[in-house]
Amino acid sequence: MTIHIPLSTPGAGPSKYASWSSDPQDDLAAVVRTLRSSKKMVVVSGAGVSTAADIPDFRSSTGLFHDNGYTSGKGKARGDQVKDLFHVKCLSSSTLLAQHYSLITSLASLAISANPTCFHSYLSELASSGRLLRCYTQNIDNLESKAGLQVGIPLPKKPRGKSQKQKATTVHENRIPEVIPLHGLLDTLHCVLCQTVIPLEPYLPLPEHVIPCPTCQLASTIRAALSERTRRSGHLRASVILYGEEHPQGDLIGSIVEKDLKSVDCLLVIGTSLSVPGVKRIVKEMSKSTKARKGKVILVNDEYPKGLNGAGSGGGDWRDIFDFWLQIDIQSFIKDYLTNEDYITSIPKEEKKIPITPRKMNKLVYPPTPESLDRPSKAPDQAMLTPTKSKKRKEIEVVIPTPTSTMKRKYVKRQREVSPSPMPKGN
Ligand SMILES: [Zn+2]
Repeated sequence: MTIHIPLSTPGAGPSKYASWSSDPQDDLAAVVRTLRSSKKMVVVSGAGVSTAADIPDFRSSTGLFHDNGYTSGKGKARGDQVKDLFHVKCLSSSTLLAQHYSLITSLASLAISANPTCFHSYLSELASSGRLLRCYTQNIDNLESKAGLQVGIPLPKKPRGKSQKQKATTVHENRIPEVIPLHGLLDTLHCVLCQTVIPLEPYLPLPEHVIPCPTCQLASTIRAALSERTRRSGHLRASVILYGEEHPQGDLIGSIVEKDLKSVDCLLVIGTSLSVPGVKRIVKEMSKSTKARKGKVILVNDEYPKGLNGAGSGGGDWRDIFDFWLQIDIQSFIKDYLTNEDYITSIPKEEKKIPITPRKMNKLVYPPTPESLDRPSKAPDQAMLTPTKSKKRKEIEVVIPTPTSTMKRKYVKRQREVSPSPMPKGN
């Protein structure tokens, strides 16, 4: 059963397969300790890690797939219309292509001007310290690259001998980038025919018509000059994976996942509603391997993933996948807790665990003072050596800086109202 730690404004209700934490602050500390001590972490990230950089997500109430979440040249668009603009069919319809290019133009412009968030800096530090095994991101903004991480999908190892015709699906371990962009990247265009990759920025804003491939055009010009037969020319498209098409390097990504399954010791799933089948599979397989290695699987997101058939939160296919579900603002979690050195580490763990016993206290020897010698009983020693109840409590108290006496009260109140774990309304 997943432990649900609700620390942000109440949004989605508890999941059928998550139970309320009995002590959110204690469980939050456990999550932070786990993440800080892991050696081979795999991170699966989604749009939620980039919204603080003003890049819209897709499925939240302000996301692109929500009505009025996107304003095109023709005004506000319906969510389902925007979703259609991410479908591969756009590439074969001149009307849809113009709208698709317009959407790509606005997203690419946002990505170009955006700066990495606290999450991206954390990821970069994780990689520098050698503790990031891999980040699989669904984001196309490439903010990881701006944060100094290696992003991309490596070229496959060339197959040898008889297997020349086989599809190459293996890569050299040391050539695998730190971040694998599962859905492509917004910063390049490529030719649908010759696969030439070209930076996108010089083409902004993208026109309302097909962009011919300069490489194919050059080849045609040369062939014409040599009086050779003309060949078909390709056109450019954004290098992002659209609905209705397979990832052209899906097999390679699969082989990287296979490698990482062998050593992952902690899985952090962050800022994603896990709606895409391929990503769900990666998370489930990573979770299994992490748990087999006694590692923890942590979800940080406003919502618990939707279940099978989209029927409400907490469907059966997410049973036992996560150990903790932290419902908290992502950047605040990174900044105020995970990377905040004053959180937890300033308080020696032993102080919390080991009670101050009278036997230990009696080891202390104080020199007598003139006042103590004047007194008849041994009361002064006791007064000095035995802490009062309030003093003892003060000495061993663990101070966790948190949002939260108010939050805790709200939580307790909420827990009473919703106990034990109802499904949210309308799901
Ligand atoms: Zn071309």
